[in-house]
Amino acid sequence: MNQKSNVIVKPELCKACGLCIEFCPKKVLSKGKAISGMGYEFTVYYGEGCIGCGTCFYVCPEPGAIAVVRDEQKNVECGVWSDFSH
Ligand code: SF4
Ligand code: SF4
Repeated sequence: MNQKSNVIVKPELCKACGLCIEFCPKKVLSKGKAISGMGYEFTVYYGEGCIGCGTCFYVCPEPGAIAVVRDEQKNVECGVWSDFSH
């Protein structure tokens, strides 16, 4: 976890349950103001403070909704997306 980590939420898959926000130890995730096509205020990460612990990925009940990546390499660190293209 030496590299900076980044979190990517897929708005179309997030159901805004709030578990990732509640359990993130750094409190760097927030309920967004935008509403997805599914009608949810999907979670957002504003790009600062993530330590790459992966807790958000592990508590998320929606497959593929959230992933943790290494900012430098754009590799998936926690989470598997078959269509991950960064
Ligand atoms: S990886 Fe850890 S620190 Fe980063 S957003 Fe997820 S729960 Fe928070
Ligand atoms: S835990 Fe998953 S579904 Fe729930 S708010 Fe976070 S990203 Fe969305």
